[in-house]
Parts: sequence; C-alpha cells; structure tokens
Amino acid sequence: SEVATMMNVPITQVIAACMSLGIMVTMNQRLDAETLTIVADEFGYEVEFTTSDIEEAMVEEEDDPASLVPRAPIVTVMGHVDHGKTSLLDYIRKANVIAGESGGITQHIGAYSVVLDGGQRITFLDTPGHEAFTAMRARGTQVTDIAIIVVAADDDIMPQTKEAISHAQAAGVPIVFAINKVDKPTANPDKIKEKLASMNFLVESWGGSYQSHDISAKFGQGVNELLEKVLLEAEMLELKANPDKSASGTVVEAYLDKGRGYVSTVLVQGGTLRVGDYILAGKNHGKVRAMHDERGNSVKEAGPSIPISILGLDGAPAAGDKFNVFEDEREAKQIAAKRTQLLREQSVRTQKHVTLAEIGRRIALGDFKELNIILKGDVDGSVEALSDSFSKLSTEEIQVNIIHKGVGAITESDVLLASASDAIIIGFNVRPMASTKALADKEEIDIKTYSIIYDAIDDVKDAMEGMLSPEL
Ligand code: GDP
Repeated sequence: SEVATMMNVPITQVIAACMSLGIMVTMNQRLDAETLTIVADEFGYEVEFTTSDIEEAMVEEEDDPASLVPRAPIVTVMGHVDHGKTSLLDYIRKANVIAGESGGITQHIGAYSVVLDGGQRITFLDTPGHEAFTAMRARGTQVTDIAIIVVAADDDIMPQTKEAISHAQAAGVPIVFAINKVDKPTANPDKIKEKLASMNFLVESWGGSYQSHDISAKFGQGVNELLEKVLLEAEMLELKANPDKSASGTVVEAYLDKGRGYVSTVLVQGGTLRVGDYILAGKNHGKVRAMHDERGNSVKEAGPSIPISILGLDGAPAAGDKFNVFEDEREAKQIAAKRTQLLREQSVRTQKHVTLAEIGRRIALGDFKELNIILKGDVDGSVEALSDSFSKLSTEEIQVNIIHKGVGAITESDVLLASASDAIIIGFNVRPMASTKALADKEEIDIKTYSIIYDAIDDVKDAMEGMLSPEL
C-alpha cells in the first residue's frame, strides 16, 4: 500500500504486478528489496534505498587497516562418524593445558582455545561434524576459517567424508586433512591419499596443494605437526581483527542452567567483550554479569577469536546468532524489537531460495550467474552421468556448479547445505525422508526427483532457458 501511494498507482495494480512475479501479497505486506525494485520498474520508477538510524547502528563500521592486529584461526573438525573427530578435539584440548594455568577439568562450552608451545593460539569449535557448521551458514554466519577433515586410515573415504569436503568447499574454507588411526596395524594412509588424489585433492607430500598429516588422535602421534600445518594455512589467510572497539561476534551455543540462569557461549570476532557490557544477541539481551573460559576461570575481558561463556542474557539465543555491544539497555531493546520485526517479515517473505521454476526469470533479470546443484542418486554411474551432463549445460551467462554429489537418500544435511549455498537438490531414483522433506519445506529448498536421466537434464535445461512453466 505504501509503495502504491508513493508511485500514485492503484494498490490493486501493485498486487497484480507482484502476482505476475509469482508472489502472493496482501496490502500491508512489506516487499523485499529485490521485489520492490522489479515492481517499481514495471511502473517506470527507480528505487533508491536509504538506511534508517537503527539499521545504520546495526551495520558494522569498516576498520581502519592500522587498527587491525593478527587473530587466531577458528577451526572446525569434520569427517565421517567414528573416524575420530571427538578423539582429536579431546586430545588437543587435554594436551595443550598451559603450564601453571589454574582450573583443571575443562567444561564443554561449545568452543575452546589452545595456546601451542610456540605461543600461537588456535580456537576450535567443539561441535564435531558438518551439521553445526552448515546450520550456522544457513543462518547467514560463518565463523570457521579452516576445516580439519578427519579420515580413518583403516577405513576409506566415506559418504560423510565427501559431504564434509563439499560443505567446506561450498563455504570456501581451506581444508587440512588429518589421516587418523595410523597406530592401527590395518591402517593404510597411502590408500586414503590415493583416493583423495582420485577426487582431485592431491596432498602436499605427493606434490599437491592440500595439507595433510598422518595422526593418531588416540595416542597424540602427529597431532602437533597437524596443528602446525593448520597454522601455516592460517598464515596465508592473514587473519586480522580490531580489538579496540565494542565487541561483536557470534553465538556458539546457549542453554538454561537451573542455578545460574541463561549461559551462552559466544565467539568474539571483533573488538573486546568486557564484564558489564550491554549486549544484544539475536533476540536476547542483557548486561554481561560474568564471563568464564572453558576451564571455568573467571575472565574480565575477551578479544577477537576468543570463545567465552557469559551470564546475564534474558534468554537463550540460537547458535549462529550475531551479538553486538550497545551503549545502554534502551538502545539494545530498540534494536531487539526491530530485529524481531525484520525476522517476522522475513518469515512471511516468499521464496527465500532459488527454485528450478524461478531460475529462468532470475537469469532474465541478470541477477543470477550461478546455478548450484546438489545431486543424489541410487548408483554411482547415474550420479556421474548426470553430474557431467549438468555441468555441460553451463553457458556464458550462467555457470552450473555441482556443489555436492553422492549416492544415497536425500538427507537433512543436503538441505542445510542447499540452504547455506542457495542450491537446488536433484534426486535420481532417491527420495527425501519425511523429516528431510519437512526441513526442506521450512528452509524453502526445491527438491526435484527423477527416474529418467533425460527428464532431469531436460528440466534443468528448460529452466535455464526460462521455458519451465511456473508451478502454481
Ligand atoms: P567421531 O565419531 O568421529 O567423533 O569418532 P570418535 O572420536 O568418537 O572415535 C571413534 C572410535 O575410534 C573410538 O572408539 C575411538 O577410541 C577410536 N579412535 C579414534 N581415534 C583413534 C586413533 O587414532 N587410533 C585408534 N586406534 N583408535 C581411535
């Protein structure tokens, strides 16, 4: 209604214009920026966006390069179940207790930070697996700088190994391979490296560019060398942050403790967080009453790349929520209300993610350059055949990327990856399970299933040419 008034056209015409774009709206609904631009264009107007004070307050200021100092890398450990992710995280945590540091038993707070003998620090996200990693990305946050992918040398490259690699690659995060369990007599690290090579991941010792190290997470063999390779990789990333400003970062986990109230672990990404700061995390806010590190030590302040458990929020924010420090309660509350409103609007917005039916329109608009596909099938042969055929559909205008392919049912992990990377999912002779379907509906991910190869290829081709008629 507001935009109709501004353009001085009947509201029914604006609603009709939206419908012709496949968007059903009511009079009082807010339109997202993309839709607004297209609708206004239909009536010969150009949209100019201005930011409100509150939005401005939420925008991070660019740091002066002179204020930036090196920060520790943040690492996630991923890999197939039982290949040793937890063992590796546990070993590193126990082996790197700084001499003389008080507090014995480490608590699980969702992340921890270790200082190596050489004085360098590495922060680990303590939720092994790619689910948490990708769930955060699906919420629009990425905290990980480097991924360690664990592969058991007495086993093989397994489906979840491939998944983990795809997830790290889709996120653009460098990978360091940890070939684990080399203490076992049945271990064959060369076989793993060979398999990796056949997947185009040539490890450095074989003349490639991927760091890898043979380790035993159980006995600690090779773990220090693995961490040195992580640091090498980190050096190339030139990770920096400005510690001299109000803190901001991401929530790692949060829960209600009966005695202490809401306990939230946050990872500081910029600035320094202090006891007494007023913070807003997702939809929750409060004054930081106390901070503790993963050994339960009370801490007064935490700088960039430091995970810290805090007390004082009025609820449990979700993993992946951003946090910021504000002047006072009033300012934080104002922005919390605004965020709630924005979230509500986002949830009524149509089509958050791309669908096959919509691709043609978006290509025609010129704002769509890459079609990301996740491909699952019942047998390797058809997955490879389809993957080849899809890739060949790339044109000068649009690149088709197979960001993940595999044999097996369509899983929730596929949906999360699709959500994080704005991809569609194509299944060949496989279907999603009911719970996967429910998640796909919630995340608005398009899943297409086929049993004839040519049908799948034709559909994608037609969609790219804008020939697929929209489903109503
Ligand atoms: P996750 O599922 O990837 O977290 O794997 P876990 O860390 O739970 O390890 C699975 C099993 O493998 C456990 O029984 C571990 O004790 C064992 N394991 C892990 N790393 C090693 C290793 O380096 N050597 C040996 N022999 N066993 C290991």
